[in-house]
Amino acid sequence: MKFRLYPTKTQEILLLEHCGHARYVYNMGLEQRNMYRKAFGPTPNYNAQSAQLTEVRKDSWLKEGVYIVQQQALRDLDQGFRNWHNGTHGHPTFRKAGHNEGFRIVGLAAKRFERMSRKRARVNIPKIGWVDWRWTRNPGAIKSYRVTLDRAGCWWIAFAVIPKPIPAPGNGKIVGIDRGVAQSFTMSTGEVVKIPGLSAVEQQRMLHLKRKLSRQKPGSNRHKKTKLLISKLEHRRVNRSIDAVEKLTTRLAGSFDIIRIENLKIKNMTKSAKGTLTNPGKNVKAKSGLNREIRKNGWGRCDRRFQDKIGDRLEKINPVNTSIRCNVCTFTDTKNRKSQAEFECLLCEHAENADVNAAKNIAAGHVVFSRGGLELSRPVSRVPQLLLQ
Ligand SMILES: [Zn+2]
Repeated sequence: MKFRLYPTKTQEILLLEHCGHARYVYNMGLEQRNMYRKAFGPTPNYNAQSAQLTEVRKDSWLKEGVYIVQQQALRDLDQGFRNWHNGTHGHPTFRKAGHNEGFRIVGLAAKRFERMSRKRARVNIPKIGWVDWRWTRNPGAIKSYRVTLDRAGCWWIAFAVIPKPIPAPGNGKIVGIDRGVAQSFTMSTGEVVKIPGLSAVEQQRMLHLKRKLSRQKPGSNRHKKTKLLISKLEHRRVNRSIDAVEKLTTRLAGSFDIIRIENLKIKNMTKSAKGTLTNPGKNVKAKSGLNREIRKNGWGRCDRRFQDKIGDRLEKINPVNTSIRCNVCTFTDTKNRKSQAEFECLLCEHAENADVNAAKNIAAGHVVFSRGGLELSRPVSRVPQLLLQ
């Protein structure tokens, strides 16, 4: 969301100074990366450069400037390199004075703004103070903003916003979601959503490209070209996955009052495979295979997007026994699970797809039995059984 910014003459000089600092740090970082690439191979990443910036700032003129402005310039540079690696953009180039002038403010400093009248608002920019901007609509919850100067000499402020949460439909409906490797997402309604990956043809092509890459000489032009083709294909897969998760989370957020998922420590699950030096992971190969699947299926993204879109309408359920408990009679036994796909209760003979059974247990936010004791994942549901879908 972009708005016209109206600095005074004095403020304009200060804004240009911020732009200058951002440009200087950006170009310095780029030069360093370019140099390293030619001389040593691996280039210093964002964290390394950010640490260096802190060092350099201790005794140089840079300390006169605003730290966030300079740090975010390195972030921009890092993003530029990421885009280049992903094959969506060209290699980052040096910034020139008068071209694409701008800087970014993030965090708490980005939240200092207020509306003055119907058409006027102001933002408090670090080391500059209150600068007026033209209010045309409500920017909402702000994450960060970027101030830019266009070629016509006009200043702009563009806000990056946290999207507004989706309102509850108010129908009292609850849905449980079971996340599996094979099927990705199974809803307690019986619906299954699979996050698309690459098509069979594309997978073949990926395999072919990877074999080709391993035969080519690293650093050669052919090697580079193959690498670019691989990253383009990979990028296509990631975009598809993001798109599917966006659609799924928006649709469910608008159709159910409460969404329940298992409280899985995804970060731990994906991190722990390799273990630490003193505590090496067990079964590393199998686990990292699972981890790859989890990342591919967008579990983490799904969690985050639900968090953004519905806030506390998302409920996390204790995952213990959800896959082996009968959702009809609550009898819990590992033998209930006949196979990966089949569930058949030993007590009441209720038979169902195993993932759907698990999703229904999750929807119920049920009492789970573990280690001989009663464990309440949450207060027993107040919602009548009929409403559970
Ligand atoms: Zn049963």
